Formats: sequence, C-alpha cells, structure tokens
Amino acid sequence: MALALSRNQAILVTGGAGYIGSHTVQLLLARGYQVTVADNLSRGHRHAVDPRFLREVDISDAAAMDRVFAEQQFAAVIHFAAFIAVGESARAPELYFANNVGGSLTLLTAMIRHGVKRLVFSSTAAVYGTPATVPIREELPFAPVSPYGESKVMVETMLGWFDRIHALRSIALRYFNAAGADPAGRLGEEHDPETHLIPLLFHAIRTGEPITIFGEDYPTPDGTCIRDYIHVSDLAEAHILALEALLAPDAASMALNVGTGSGHSVREVIRAVEDVTGKKVPFVMGPRRDGDPPALVADSARLRAILGWQPKHSDLREIVATAWQFDQHR
Ligand code: UDP
Repeated sequence: MALALSRNQAILVTGGAGYIGSHTVQLLLARGYQVTVADNLSRGHRHAVDPRFLREVDISDAAAMDRVFAEQQFAAVIHFAAFIAVGESARAPELYFANNVGGSLTLLTAMIRHGVKRLVFSSTAAVYGTPATVPIREELPFAPVSPYGESKVMVETMLGWFDRIHALRSIALRYFNAAGADPAGRLGEEHDPETHLIPLLFHAIRTGEPITIFGEDYPTPDGTCIRDYIHVSDLAEAHILALEALLAPDAASMALNVGTGSGHSVREVIRAVEDVTGKKVPFVMGPRRDGDPPALVADSARLRAILGWQPKHSDLREIVATAWQFDQHR
C-alpha cells in the first residue's frame, strides 16, 4: 500500500542541499518519488544535489516560490530550509526569526495558495530547552533557551493554527543529535563553520589542535554531557515514514521525537572515535557552554508506535565509522 502510494508523487524538499535534507532526497529518489529541491545554497552545497532537481530559490521569496509551486502539483513538502547554529542565534536572533520563522510563513502561505496541504517539518529537541529529566516525551512544554529553539517553537505553533484553519496536515520531527554519513560515502556533514562534536573530533585528529570539551562537572556518570546521537540515514527514514503517514487519507498532524532513546556522553563519543580511527583525540577540558543541558535523550515510543520506525544504523560505532569514512574522502 505504502509503495503504491509513493509511485510518481512529486515532493518539494526545501533545504535539500543541506546535511539531513540531502540524505532524505537520496532516499526519496530511491523509493520512487519525484523530487524538486528548493535551496538558496546559502548554507547548503551545490554538489549535494543532482542539478536536474535543484531550483535555486529562497523560501522567503514569495514570487519565486509561486513559480516553483506553479511548475507541478506537489503531493507534499518536506521543509528543512533553516539556520541551525544555536550560538549564532544567540548573537543574531533577527537572522533566525527572519529566515526560520519568516521563511516558513512565506512557504506555508504559498502552500495554501497552491492547495498543497501536507508538510513534514524539521523541528528540534531544542524546543524543550533544559528538561529536568530524561527521556523526554513530546508532552513536555515548550521551554526553548535560544532564539534557534524559539524559532522552531514559533513554526510548530503556526502549524497548529494552519492545521485548524486551513486543514494543512503536518508532522513536526523533533530531531535529537543528527550524526554520521551516508554509508555509500557520497554525502556527509559539512557545516561551515562546523560546531558539531563528531566532525570536530576528526578535525582535532587531523590537525593535532585539541578540541575543547565543554564541561566535566555535569551531574552525569562521567561528568560530561549526554546526547542522543541518531544516524542521519535513520533520520531520513523517519521523514519517509512521516510523509507516507501524511499521504494516507486519514492523515493527522502531530509532533514526534526522533532519537534512539540511548544517550552517550562526550567521553564515550571520544572513546568511540579513538576505537574506530585507531588514533588519539587531542582534547582539553573547558568550561560549560551556555545553554547546554546535562542530558538530552528522546523517548521515541510515539515514533516507533505510530510510524513503525526503528533505528538501523544508530549504533555509536556505526555512526562514527560512516562519518569517518566520509571525512577521509573529502
Ligand atoms: N561539545 C564539546 N565540544 C565541542 C562541541 C561540542 O564538548 O567543541 C559537546 C557539547 O557540549 C554537547 C555535545 O558535544 O554536549 C554535542 O554537541 P553538538 O554541538 O554536536 O550538538 P548539540 O547537542 O549542541 O545539538
């Protein structure tokens, strides 16, 4: 049934030249969907998308988005396009509200104008802020501690109203820590500047410049922060399942955590990197980073029960091995 539904349906993917977007595009194509990517390439990479599918447009440009929607009838939109750096958002919140919130509003408005009523949205565990306990369930109230997290809360809030008023059905996927790379080695994580732990550990190995570990006095077993690392391919699969749920006749809007339910400390990640690479990671201990909660681990029971999702590549060593393989070849 799901396969029959997927044949030849056209899907618009905003931000499809980015890290998670490009992995999802690859999976959509493999499953038989027609894909159009809308990306302004401000942070995405031209080489991450087949040029036949790319429309170089800004989601904040209403006229350009009208042209994209006029070209073909999309069954749904998967909306990745956004800025993602928490630290940058704390220095320049205006960028995050303009791009993440304003851009999303322009996109949603164009969708309504063109009768496209299904959306998968990239949300984040940052909507929860600093939760007192883990694992985190979706019922926890919004409590973002950065303009980045707030920008995602604002879009989720808009989606609630668009559901009620315009019958636009959406699934917001609240990502935990996306990591790893396409096992075939073609795509991977290449943010500029890079702020994420695993690529920074490789950078430290490559250059010999020690990475700073942000705090060893957290109330965790080894004192370093715990995060729920999820392989980008498992994350991409969650988007396909969310899309299929939205294309079913009885589609309902919801928000779902996307994490494995297992946490790993920074020290554990360093050990995994040393095991996989056979090299020592040079590091120094530093102070805590502002806004870093001690532990973020998903309760992903809803994702598993409602969408039938299961992680297949999110063992920490597999995450690190695929990321290392990509790092070696770029
Ligand atoms: N981290 C670190 N040093 C770095 C970058 C990250 O110690 O240079 C830690 C950070 O405090 C967090 C974990 O690694 O506990 C994952 O951070 P990342 O920035 O990759 O993702 P986030 O959890 O902020 O989304």
